[in-house]
Amino acid sequence: MRRITNIPLLRKHNVKTVFSIIWERRAVTRRELSDLTSLSAPPVSGIINQLRNEGFVRITGKGDSRGGRQPDIVEFVPDAYCVMGISIGVYRIRGIVTDLYCRVIDDCEMAVNREFDEDIRPGIRQVVKELLEKFGGISDVNRIIAAGCSFAGSVNSGSGLVLNSPILGRFKDFNLKSFLHEQSGLPVYTENNVNLAALNEYYFGKGRGRDFVLFIQAGWGIGSGLVIRGDIYTGADDSALEIGHTVMQVNGKRCYCGSYGCLETIASFPAFFELFNKHARESTKKEVRNLAGASFSLESVYRVFDLARSGDETAIKVIREVGEYIGIATANMLNILNPDIVVLGGEYCAVKDIILESIRETVRTHAWPVVKDTEIVFSDYGMNADLRGASALAVRNILEAGHEAFIR
Ligand SMILES: [Zn+2]
Repeated sequence: MRRITNIPLLRKHNVKTVFSIIWERRAVTRRELSDLTSLSAPPVSGIINQLRNEGFVRITGKGDSRGGRQPDIVEFVPDAYCVMGISIGVYRIRGIVTDLYCRVIDDCEMAVNREFDEDIRPGIRQVVKELLEKFGGISDVNRIIAAGCSFAGSVNSGSGLVLNSPILGRFKDFNLKSFLHEQSGLPVYTENNVNLAALNEYYFGKGRGRDFVLFIQAGWGIGSGLVIRGDIYTGADDSALEIGHTVMQVNGKRCYCGSYGCLETIASFPAFFELFNKHARESTKKEVRNLAGASFSLESVYRVFDLARSGDETAIKVIREVGEYIGIATANMLNILNPDIVVLGGEYCAVKDIILESIRETVRTHAWPVVKDTEIVFSDYGMNADLRGASALAVRNILEAGHEAFIR
C-alpha cells in the first residue's frame, strides 16, 4: 500500500476521516474513533480538541466502559453552523437554511414564469437575499458557512458552469457557482437536481445504509441520479443518468433535446396531459371531457390526478400507462446498473399509489431475472429531496474539503 509521507496532507486526511465519522455516527467514543481510523489516542484527541474549539463537536457524558476509566462520548453539534440550500427548478426557485444535518430552519420560494427566455437571475438573487436577511434576524448570518445549489440541467460540479438546460434557455454558458458566490459571499457547490435528490436519499432517506442508490425523478421532466457509496456518479461530462432522454420509440416524437422518441416525449407532464386528452374525449363524463379541452399547465395535470384519486377510470388508465413507460426505462436501468434500491421522486408522487404498482409490475415483467425484484419505493421527501440534497452537498464539502476554510 502507498503511504502518505506528506505530514500536513496526512493530518488533513485524518481530520477529514475523524470529522466524517463523528458526523455520520452522531455520537462516538474516543476509543471507537481510534478503532475505526487505526489512529492512536494522541492524534485522535488532537483532532477532537480542534473540532471542539471550532464548535463542531462537544464532549457529553460517559459511554459504556470496557473496564478501567469510563470513555468520553464525542457528539456532533448539528447547530454549530448552518448551510444554505438553493433549488433552481422549472417553475420555481427555492431556498432553505438548515443545520448541519440538513434539518430546515427557514425557507423561501419564488415562482418562475414558464417562458423559456425569462432571465431568472433576479429571482435567484431575491431568494438568497431574503434568506440571508430573514436568517440574520434570528441568528448571526456569519453562521451560514456554505451553500449548495441544485440545478435542473447539466452543470459542471467543479466549475459551476451550466452545460445544458433546454428547459431554462438563458442558462446556457452561465456560471452558476460564481453568480451565487457573488450574491451570498459563501463557498458554493453546484450539482444537478436529481443527483442531489439521490444524495439526500443516501444520507437521510430510503437509501440510508445502501451502497448503490438510484433515484428516478418523474413529473414535469424525467431524470435520474446514482450515488455509489456516497459518491455521485457524474460521468465524464457531468451528464450521466439522463434516463429521460433514453430512446423508447424509434422514430418517435421529436424531443426538446433534439432526438426522437425519448422517455420525456411519452411520460413527462406535457406528454401525460396529451395522452389524457386523447383518452378523455371518449369518456362519458362531462367533467373529464371538459378537462381534456383545457390547455396544458401544472394545475390541469393536478386536476387529472384529483380525478384519478376519486376513482375516474380514464385518469387512472393514463397514469398506469405512463407508469408502464417509466417502468420499462427503470427495467433498462436495473439491467445496466444493478442498484440496491430505486427511490422514486418528482411530481408523480401525488399519485404514487396508482403509478408505483404499474412501475413495479412492468419491471417484474421486463427486467433481468436477478434484478427484477429490486426494491422500488417512493421517497418520503416529496418535492423537497433535491433541496435537502443541496444542503447535504454543502455539508459534505465542509466535512471533506477541510472545515477550517469555512469558518471566518
Ligand atoms: Zn430527449
